[in-house]
Amino acid sequence: MHFESTLAFAHKLDKADLLKSFRSLFHIPKVKGKPAIYFTGNSLGLQPKTTKKFITEELRDWAALGVEGHLHSRRPWLYYHKFTKKALAQLVGAKPLEVVAMNQLTVNLHLMMVSFYRPTKTRFKIITEAGAFPSDQYAFESQAKFHNLNPDKAIIELTPREGEHTLRTEDILQTIEAHASQLALVILGGVQYYTGQFFNIKKITEAAHKAGAYAGFDLAHAIGNVPVNLHRDQVDFAVWCSYKYLNSGPGGIAGAFVHERHAHNVDLPRFSGWWGHNEKERFQMKKGFVPMPGVDGWQLSNFPIFQGAAHLAALEIFQEVGIKNLRKKSIALTGYLEFLLKEIDPDEKIFTLLTPKKINERGCQLSIYMKTGGRKMFNTLTNHGVIADWREPGVIRVAPVPLYNTFEEVFRFAEIFKNAIKR
Ligand SMILES: *Cc1c(COP(=O)(O)O)cnc(C)c1O
Repeated sequence: MHFESTLAFAHKLDKADLLKSFRSLFHIPKVKGKPAIYFTGNSLGLQPKTTKKFITEELRDWAALGVEGHLHSRRPWLYYHKFTKKALAQLVGAKPLEVVAMNQLTVNLHLMMVSFYRPTKTRFKIITEAGAFPSDQYAFESQAKFHNLNPDKAIIELTPREGEHTLRTEDILQTIEAHASQLALVILGGVQYYTGQFFNIKKITEAAHKAGAYAGFDLAHAIGNVPVNLHRDQVDFAVWCSYKYLNSGPGGIAGAFVHERHAHNVDLPRFSGWWGHNEKERFQMKKGFVPMPGVDGWQLSNFPIFQGAAHLAALEIFQEVGIKNLRKKSIALTGYLEFLLKEIDPDEKIFTLLTPKKINERGCQLSIYMKTGGRKMFNTLTNHGVIADWREPGVIRVAPVPLYNTFEEVFRFAEIFKNAIKR
């Protein structure tokens, strides 16, 4: 793609942007009275203007109907999780049977591991990435301990080669092969939260299966960011949250995927609750759990309607825009940011980008590693109305989100960054 570092050029790209109208569907936070350059949609997505309407409707129905709302509200609460299925299935390349909105991400990770991490004397290892999101690390560690295993022996961490920041697919595959006879589970992020690396889900899953292990992915930073094909790629399970790229609100309801080939396996051990029970007889209150087919059979509790309402408001926008269109703009938007940053420091004397250069190995996010003065740079950005994310020991993560960020914002960000370096 051809880029130029002028405001006029950024404006030209904005004008030609087929998705430009979507920005107006969101509330843009302000700093000192002006719209912020909000590059933190990877941490907490912005609020759609329709969210309020969706939640207000549920409040009204509750007020007017009380318990009758379970069956007679405009979106009957009893079936609420079903209303999210179509959009979620499209986002992760799945069938409706394979996706469900429920709980929180870490809870779902545990539920999935209860079913898909079943260590035996000989097969007990988990392969994951070093420096995984802490909650995931704690989940893996506690799962190992739950099975009376030593986490140091059970968990194999993938680390980049000396002098490199991200993992090479060939090294991931080679490690899987090397541990094949003892391997129970491979679990990685879809997009790594710190480096922004987008892993090769298909190849990793293939290798895990060849080794006789299950493959699971944490899509917290992938869903709504990059297109994935969980069904086609034969992934066993996946989990995600909805408050990052999915814009469904702080602490929003999470989701899970279980592949169709496990959909009718009632022998798969799981932790159960009444919402996962055969819905036809859920209210007969009988003894003996009979799971719903598909991932619905992993639900525990009745559905949180207000979180669900916010989720539906946001998912409606994704259905309208389509993940393929988003991805197209995202490649250009992040590509433009990368181009401008490289112009500032071509020899990487001051900073380096941890995120892979190849577009099929990354999503929106670029992780800028400042060699010195990182904290100062971050504060300068903040003072100039940029909302970004700081991670020790010197990483500024920026995510221009194609749904609501513009090429002009990318340009202005780069100008602020450049001027700060000059000073
Ligand atoms: C954001 C994120 C989490 C957060 O977990 P919650 O259960 O939603 O609090 C966990 N793992 C990853 C990889 C994340 O990016």
